[in-house]
Amino acid sequence: MGEWSEYFEDFPEENPDNWVNGQFNPCLPAQLNKASAQQADASLVAHQLKLIMNAYAKLEQKAKSLVATEDCPQCGLTELKTYQLNATLYLCECQDCGIYGAGQTHEEALAKTAGAVGEGLDWRDGAFY
Ligand SMILES: [Zn+2]
Repeated sequence: MGEWSEYFEDFPEENPDNWVNGQFNPCLPAQLNKASAQQADASLVAHQLKLIMNAYAKLEQKAKSLVATEDCPQCGLTELKTYQLNATLYLCECQDCGIYGAGQTHEEALAKTAGAVGEGLDWRDGAFY
């Protein structure tokens, strides 16, 4: 096929791909490439939009599952939020210093969080999720 592509470079009018509806149109392959590149861009944007919407849905679910906002055992600010993620999973996370802990009850999650003081945990590092 290498020989044919070299031949078509020298004689583009001989290349059947350059003829559209009986007219010589050597730009069409380039236009088709551009169209498929635009389609790929659109797919990427759609994919990114889906990721953002999933992240937003998770945030919304998290907001609904908020159980309490209390004083953080590490930084002392009233920024420790406890979420009930399901029937037997509670998660505490400080919105300020980032410490977190999980347990089967609110109390257990609080105790885990208090026990982790000084360990340098930060839920924003993505360790829990
Ligand atoms: Zn804190």
